[in-house]
Amino acid sequence: MKRLVLMGAGHAHLIALEQWVKAPLKDVELVLVTPSRWQYYSGMIPGWIAGHYTVDQCRIDAEPLAKAAGATLVLSRVVEISADAKQIQLAEGSLLAYDWLSIDIGAKTNLESLRGYTGPLLSIKPLEQFHQQWLRHIDGSKAKARDLVVIGGGAAGAELAMAIAHARREGAETDARVTLITGNQGLLPDFSHRLRKLTQRKLTKLGVEIVEQRAEAAGRYLILTNGASLRPDLVVAVTGAESFSFLAASGLAVDTQGFVLVNECHQSVSHPEVFAAGDACSRLDQALNRSGVHAVRAAPVLAANLRAATESGEFTAFQPRANTLYLIACGDKVAVGSYGPFAFSGKWVWRLKDKIDRGFVGGF
Ligand SMILES: Cc1cc2nc3c(=O)[nH]c(=O)nc-3n(C[C@H](O)[C@H](O)[C@H](O)COP(=O)(O)OP(=O)(O)OC[C@H]3O[C@@H](n4cnc5c(N)ncnc54)[C@H](O)[C@@H]3O)c2cc1C
Repeated sequence: MKRLVLMGAGHAHLIALEQWVKAPLKDVELVLVTPSRWQYYSGMIPGWIAGHYTVDQCRIDAEPLAKAAGATLVLSRVVEISADAKQIQLAEGSLLAYDWLSIDIGAKTNLESLRGYTGPLLSIKPLEQFHQQWLRHIDGSKAKARDLVVIGGGAAGAELAMAIAHARREGAETDARVTLITGNQGLLPDFSHRLRKLTQRKLTKLGVEIVEQRAEAAGRYLILTNGASLRPDLVVAVTGAESFSFLAASGLAVDTQGFVLVNECHQSVSHPEVFAAGDACSRLDQALNRSGVHAVRAAPVLAANLRAATESGEFTAFQPRANTLYLIACGDKVAVGSYGPFAFSGKWVWRLKDKIDRGFVGGF
């Protein structure tokens, strides 16, 4: 029997597996390789930090899903792909051959500017590691950082800074200081002016200091663009996505940043038996933001195309929508959001986000 290997339990693969529970793939040995049975849902992690969710509300158990879809679950990390030999290597050294491969492993945090930093540093990805590290940080209450810096001016960095500031306020930690270092492009550079203003107002209300400069590591210090130096107790890096280096070494065609290059059907442009979705890939025909929304929307097309590949069917193109709804939680059960040119904020935005997020995780 021919083998389809799913690499990573990312958004697209979870949805594909769910579809195959209802309509199983024919005559295919299905294997899911992922390092943890738990898939943490990034959209709810700031809410977990803020104290609104338990960890079990923010993660999906891939084990029963894999079982129901008839997939063998291999709890391991892929460390190498040999695309020409059609095989992957797992962390323990074993090799696994495939006839078709689908890659949905996300990305890691880009720590380029923080290389050589010697102070306490948590990076947001991988989320399962961040979850453990954050628990250790808040459990060691005496050593809890008073002066905490979040680096990253995107939506995730802003959300995390607000979640942490809210949690500290609720814990009456009056001497705690939260700083958000956004980089030279400032806060939310990819969003509208109005959304930026709404978010800025919420950050300021929570006492988060916004520093619109780039931070470079210098030993135990962070040096800002203007030459000022900081020595925070803890740095949380939310500094964008970097590809896993083994992708560029795999023989698969990749873009200049090492993400797997795919066509509109999410099929590798160099190896037709390989597919990819989510943050791990870049489209050849158009640039897509690295956001969970695209991974989720591409999922039904990926699932259909993997079926087509295994059953010699026709491939379908994934056409991303022109506008996407973005919702940013502001720590205190208020959220801001944007859709195309519109921006809005309020408790109702949080309730909408909460409903969508709970619905997604609960759906599994
Ligand atoms: C704090 C935060 C909040 C966010 N909020 C939102 C939001 O509200 N909306 C939104 O659209 N986006 C949001 N994002 C972005 C979102 O997290 C990513 O775009 C999304 O997770 C990408 O999905 P994915 O399926 O590509 O990969 P992921 O969700 O990252 O999943 C990758 C999976 O692959 C596994 N894996 C990794 N390496 C390997 C390997 N070598 N071998 C096997 N398995 C591996 C991982 O364990 C994981 O299970 C947020 C990001 C952060 C950091």
